[in-house]
Amino acid sequence: MNKYDVLVLGGGPAGLSAAYTLDRSGINVGLYDKNESPGGLCRSFSIDGFTFDTFAHVNFCKDPYVISMLEDKTDFITHVPEAYNYSKGTWIRNPVQNNLINLDVEERIKIIKGFIERKINVPENYDQWLRMQYGDYFTDNYPAKYTRKYWTVEPDMLETKWVEGRMYTPSIEEVLRGAMTSETPNVHYSKEMHYPAKGGYGSFFTPFYGDYFNGSKELTELRINSKEAVFKDGETVNFEELVTSIPLDILIHSISDIKVPEEVVNAADSLDYTSGVMVSVGLNKKHSSPSLWFYIYDEDILPARIYCPDIKSPANVPDGCSAMQAEIYYSKYKPLKKSPEQIKDETIRQMIGMGLFRGEDIAVTDVRTEKYANIMFTKEIYKARKIIHDYLDTLGIYYIGRFGEWGYLWTGQSILSGQSAAEKIKNSRSKKSYFENDI
Ligand SMILES: Cc1cc2nc3c(=O)[nH]c(=O)nc-3n(C[C@H](O)[C@H](O)[C@H](O)COP(=O)(O)OP(=O)(O)OC[C@H]3O[C@@H](n4cnc5c(N)ncnc54)[C@H](O)[C@@H]3O)c2cc1C
Repeated sequence: MNKYDVLVLGGGPAGLSAAYTLDRSGINVGLYDKNESPGGLCRSFSIDGFTFDTFAHVNFCKDPYVISMLEDKTDFITHVPEAYNYSKGTWIRNPVQNNLINLDVEERIKIIKGFIERKINVPENYDQWLRMQYGDYFTDNYPAKYTRKYWTVEPDMLETKWVEGRMYTPSIEEVLRGAMTSETPNVHYSKEMHYPAKGGYGSFFTPFYGDYFNGSKELTELRINSKEAVFKDGETVNFEELVTSIPLDILIHSISDIKVPEEVVNAADSLDYTSGVMVSVGLNKKHSSPSLWFYIYDEDILPARIYCPDIKSPANVPDGCSAMQAEIYYSKYKPLKKSPEQIKDETIRQMIGMGLFRGEDIAVTDVRTEKYANIMFTKEIYKARKIIHDYLDTLGIYYIGRFGEWGYLWTGQSILSGQSAAEKIKNSRSKKSYFENDI
């Protein structure tokens, strides 16, 4: 049986970063992931010369440690974040609320009237927050539709703490200016985005790779008393300390040798998340997307968002070619009604219908799903998350990353989350050995 000082579960950015830090300080660490290759949601894949990411990914983290690992070690391309929106056949610069100029006059009047008449209150949910910021007409016709597509629920099911900094809230002067001129400033929350020159987003993470990675290892059972983890292929490993970045609900349900309090099990079951389908298309010709990525508001069009790998980096496609990946979201609140293959066919038909490319230009297609994409900020999240974290604290288990911390963590934050847990373990182990030597 393999025995580790520290076992890290989940080899996405958080787990990779934890394992890397521990390994560098001489601690015997094993990193186990259900996927064959490392990277988690940040891994890339290639088909016949076309490289795609797992959903749209770019780095905008400015933390010096993250930069030293990602951008100082890998050549990258800099992009200015300039996106578009598609609604009822019209392209609108992002964010829509600041760039109404392309909408017809009646639509602009309705939006501006709603904006002027909006009521300031203390919002109890995301729906009320949207109405307070943008007014009723805009809310109903843009973000509420997008919420149903991206978050898979009505906006009033979401709370509001996650919104800060992610949704631009313009002044009336900005709304009016954007309705009269296309000369509006870029208000994206990040001024620059970085992407590897070659190899897709996943190649940013190769500096974290090491012999400690074990792929195709899905955790099925966790034994707390004997400190053992059992994987789907039958392997059992022994550990002194455990760090986990796998989804909290999976972790709690894997505990097999002690009775987990009902309150903790119920909390785990109440955590909500979205899942995603990725429809990837490689093209022999150039597509007609106006930007690296764009959002689609029409609810009869399946994808919420589409990005273009060839704009991220020309090395993602063969010479003269281009590519697109469409994202379609689902959850227990909005289950998939069709098979991934049917979704792929329908999405490609719709992309052709939008005039993005022609059917005869298609070189390769692919469809795949990710069960855990975004955690959902439904109302119970903070209470449930705390119950589970408090319980894991009593067991001495470290939880890291997007699905361990159960937060809206970007790549850089996930790397730092893994590093911070590893530093805590390093410190506690060095204190322990100091006292042992003292005795
Ligand atoms: C649509 C979308 C777009 C995004 N865009 C950006 C962006 O542009 N920039 C940015 O910085 N961040 C972006 N992110 C966020 C980024 O993907 C995450 O911050 C990051 O991947 C989190 O890393 P992690 O290691 O915590 O989790 P993950 O990457 O999810 O890794 C968790 C790992 O746990 C493994 N696992 C799960 N269950 C088991 C099990 N039972 N046994 C063993 N292993 C298991 C999984 O296979 C996975 O490898 C985006 C995320 C999404 C969903």
